[in-house]
Amino acid sequence: MNFKKQEIIFVVLVLILTLNFVGCSTAPTGETTPKEPFPEQKEEPKPEHIDKSDPEPKQEPEIDLAEINANEAGQIMILEWHVIGEKEGRWSRTYTNFRKDLETLYEKGYRLVSLRDVVTNNIQVEAGYTPVVLTFDDGTEGHFRYIEQDGKRIIDPHSAVGILKAFYDEHPDFGLMATFYINYYTPFGQKDYWQDKLREIVKLGMDLGNHTVNHEKLNNLSQEKVEEELGKMVKMVQEVVPGYELDSLALPYGINPKDINWAVSGEYEGIKYHNKAILLVGSGPIKSPVVKGFNPSQLPRIQVFQEEFDKWLNYFDENPEKRYISDGDPDTISIPVGEKDKIDANKLGGKILKTYEPNGK
Ligand SMILES: [Zn+2]
Repeated sequence: MNFKKQEIIFVVLVLILTLNFVGCSTAPTGETTPKEPFPEQKEEPKPEHIDKSDPEPKQEPEIDLAEINANEAGQIMILEWHVIGEKEGRWSRTYTNFRKDLETLYEKGYRLVSLRDVVTNNIQVEAGYTPVVLTFDDGTEGHFRYIEQDGKRIIDPHSAVGILKAFYDEHPDFGLMATFYINYYTPFGQKDYWQDKLREIVKLGMDLGNHTVNHEKLNNLSQEKVEEELGKMVKMVQEVVPGYELDSLALPYGINPKDINWAVSGEYEGIKYHNKAILLVGSGPIKSPVVKGFNPSQLPRIQVFQEEFDKWLNYFDENPEKRYISDGDPDTISIPVGEKDKIDANKLGGKILKTYEPNGK
């Protein structure tokens, strides 16, 4: 990717936005809705990004798709963490390394999107950047801990939620999106607080996901039992966070039930569930939601331990043409013309497909 060119485009866009707002007596308002407590891209343009040598662009330039190498047929990483804590290992990541993971992603041009937006083909990322999804399994305390400070209860800055929030405060353009896959018994530990934690995650604009009641291997269970394992979680979350839809599932051990449809939708004690996304445990990036073969019911993930994380970051550094790169417009799907055969027209969902000739090198 050519970040210099992206930066130039960004500068021009920021400049235009700035000029458009000059002379407006009121700042734009009404952006916040209850569903989106953190509207994207809300930060003020930073003065150092304004190029004073060219203060009056005549009109808003079209994004040059070839310049930014837009490729919305590219692959996307759904990253997966288990324990976040003091120790580093195959299934655990230290707080410090988790924070570094965010920095690495940010520097390499990745930006957070929700899993829901990926599977519904509604990816919103600034032009030239790559969406990435963060997921956390098992609802352990290191994901979300409260601590006392000066007589007040605060989010532990060394828990995943605290680290994500602090990183977002410093880098609002990174976004604040993640899905926390929880089980039934006292998610995130601290039995007096777990309900508050579920509410706070949703309030922060992040998501909760279903990791089943008992974390069993679903292939051993009857349909009725599978529906209980999933539906009881939906019921629990509805009771704690009314109106919140628990609509994605991380399969325990990545194991499917005998019939995947039992996991896609079902019913327990009158509570219906429908999972828009079902996640496996391993082991690679997903296809773009508009590409043939994209299957939201069998989405692979990439586990974040150093070796695996480095492997995939390097893969996309060395094969940039494999990487999903946004055109910045959620209503269009932009791809190099050579990728056209990969697209499943039925998955476009009314969005406009744009193709372009890539720049030769
Ligand atoms: Zn698990």
